[in-house]
Amino acid sequence: MAISRSDLDTYLADLLKVEKFKDYCPNGLQVEGSNVIEKIVTGVTASQRLIDEAIAHNAQAILVHHGYFWKGENQAIAGIKKSRIAALLEHDINLYAYHLPLDAHETLGNNVQLASQLGWQVQGSLGQSLSLFGKVDGLETGATLQRKLTEALDFDVIHIGEENDEIETVAWCTGAAQDELERAIEAGVDAFVSGEISERTVHLALESGVHYFAAGHHATERGGVKALGEHLEQRFDIEVQFIDLPIPV
Ligand SMILES: [Zn+2]
Repeated sequence: MAISRSDLDTYLADLLKVEKFKDYCPNGLQVEGSNVIEKIVTGVTASQRLIDEAIAHNAQAILVHHGYFWKGENQAIAGIKKSRIAALLEHDINLYAYHLPLDAHETLGNNVQLASQLGWQVQGSLGQSLSLFGKVDGLETGATLQRKLTEALDFDVIHIGEENDEIETVAWCTGAAQDELERAIEAGVDAFVSGEISERTVHLALESGVHYFAAGHHATERGGVKALGEHLEQRFDIEVQFIDLPIPV
């Protein structure tokens, strides 16, 4: 079975409500390839390694969370960007990328997927942000939640806070969202989980008493694109393969 390039673009724009987001990159088809798509490779980031995998697997499309053409970057197609785009064009591979729409989607998004991986109960979002909050599965401590995250995400999770403190309420935002910790402090939750950590985040967590868990940018953002690929595979009877290329952050 197959789907056309434009049908897939239209379907994903509608499913992910792309027009509702003001983003730092274009969401949708970023690089045009073959008109007929029988096989899609999904992954977190459109790195050269992922492109090489897609070529090796004879895919006609790559679907990612982190694509190209970010606001503020050099617009010239040169260097690493040239090599990546040249490889896509040479092999007639379409590149579809969905950033904020894939963080936020109510069933397939990174944030909801993280909650379901950990068995957390979603109670709402923190104000107008992408961050969600809710309850952990049972009662955790700093140490047990660090261990559960480490096992679930297969990532060396950094925990800032007391090991023996009890944790019942949690807020989270996948990726680079460590500064959402401030919103979590205002909301009064016990813990905040995100992907990355900066020096300032350590002090903010310790002085506020809100536990902070840095669970990996890549590791927390696998869920959305993987779930989206599985959805497409069922919906259109095409072949979709998620390729995980873990990194240390
Ligand atoms: Zn990200």
